[in-house]
Amino acid sequence: MRSERGLLIVLSGPSGVGKGTVRKALFNQEDIQFQYSVSATTRNPREGEVNGVDYFFKMREEFERMIANNELLEWAEFVGNYYGTPIAYVEQTLQQGKDVFLEIEVQGALQVKKAFPEGVFIFLAPPSLSELKSRIVGRGTETEDVIHNRLTVAKEEIEMMDAYDYVVENDEVQLACDRIKAIVVGEHCRRERV
Ligand code: 5GP
Repeated sequence: MRSERGLLIVLSGPSGVGKGTVRKALFNQEDIQFQYSVSATTRNPREGEVNGVDYFFKMREEFERMIANNELLEWAEFVGNYYGTPIAYVEQTLQQGKDVFLEIEVQGALQVKKAFPEGVFIFLAPPSLSELKSRIVGRGTETEDVIHNRLTVAKEEIEMMDAYDYVVENDEVQLACDRIKAIVVGEHCRRERV
């Protein structure tokens, strides 16, 4: 039995972890049932990027108008450019009972969590981060200074990781895709019992 509304799936994680690569690999697979939410951005298109497919490319004033008109589910400024999720597509697609997939940076994901706490929040982690976390927090064999320095560096990301429902290690792109697909299947099973 399918629930009426689709699932909102949010893939996020630290800069440089490979979110875009994993998302592209996922959507290249034929068995993907979820719809990709194309973001708006003020950054310039990269070679090969298509307006409306990779992003909706906007001027700053246009983007600021979208913010003022509450047209964005979330937005963030990242390395000097705006990025945001148009809310209309997300709402409409969820209402049609289809799952929507967002690939966004961490600040945006935390905003989405406030608006859609029922969403599925997946943190894509570099393989070394969770190792680092358990090493720093769990073992306690290193000197206090070393622990302190490492914790300072890792704290922000680890705190953010804890706000997510799932942590997926990006040790290998295909494995990360498989884990994400398994999470979505699991979430459907969890929510659709009678
Ligand atoms: P890029 O410029 O490399 O395509 O993306 C830069 C960062 O912006 C990536 O971390 C990507 O996940 C994030 N991003 C893409 N679209 C959105 C969006 O709609 N909202 C937010 N908050 N971040 C986004």
